[in-house]
Amino acid sequence: MTDTVVAPTLRQPRRVERLVTGQATSDGAGVKLTRVLTHDLQFRLDPFLMLDAFGSDQPDDYIAGFPDHPHRGFETVTYMIAGRMRHRDSAGNEGLLQNGGVQWMTAGRGLIHSELPEQEEGVMEGFQLWLNLPAKSKMLPAAYRDIPSAEIPEWHTEGVTVRVIAGALGEVAGAVQRPDTLPLYLDIHLAPGATLAVPLPAGHNAFTTTYRGEVLVGDTAVPVKRMAILANDASADGVLLRNAGTVEARTLLIAGQPLREPIVQYGPFVMNSKAEIMQAMTDFRDGRLA
Ligand code: MN
Repeated sequence: MTDTVVAPTLRQPRRVERLVTGQATSDGAGVKLTRVLTHDLQFRLDPFLMLDAFGSDQPDDYIAGFPDHPHRGFETVTYMIAGRMRHRDSAGNEGLLQNGGVQWMTAGRGLIHSELPEQEEGVMEGFQLWLNLPAKSKMLPAAYRDIPSAEIPEWHTEGVTVRVIAGALGEVAGAVQRPDTLPLYLDIHLAPGATLAVPLPAGHNAFTTTYRGEVLVGDTAVPVKRMAILANDASADGVLLRNAGTVEARTLLIAGQPLREPIVQYGPFVMNSKAEIMQAMTDFRDGRLA
């Protein structure tokens, strides 16, 4: 086993403020999933509103999918680790999301879409993150981008592979950049003994969620299916991740600049006020949302 320590080294790694166990739930037409980032953490983890993890080899857990439903006011980022999901929306976009690919959808002023499995058996595994939009962008036209796995930039060193979905790691710019929230979205694979230091601005809210093995975040062991919320100590300059186990460990590291605007969510609508939510519901009912 060789240790890999990556420059820049950190003066003071962030500590884990809290470990969170996700909540088992179902959504759509009955897809079983784990809500890792729940409603009560929306302010703490601003600009992130929700993170769902799904993973099963039992078709009954995923086969019904997510039939037509609306969104307004934020973005959804779906990362498929395994499986095939078909997206169709009211703007005429259609895409097949599969094996390591990302779909970055900006709901903006509104769209109606479906997310349906295109497999009848086998493993379906992935994550859906909800990223808030600033007030000034909530009513912009909807947008949509499919990013196949081969187009996701990767950063490599011995024992470490990082898939840079958003933001940047060192010289490697991710597939997506967002100026208002500066999201960092990394899928980090650590061989046994490997260590990775990732610089993070102290003011950015950040968390990890382990999805294979166990990851040491600073001094705290984060087991599979747990989220670690990273403290925002002003003197800390990043996060130190290490695999002290004997099998490969994988974690998502997600961080961003908070918007510090009011958050009002009603189901698939996330706006800044109750009046705007009422408007979204009226627009949807009257066929003016999308
Ligand atoms: Mn959706």
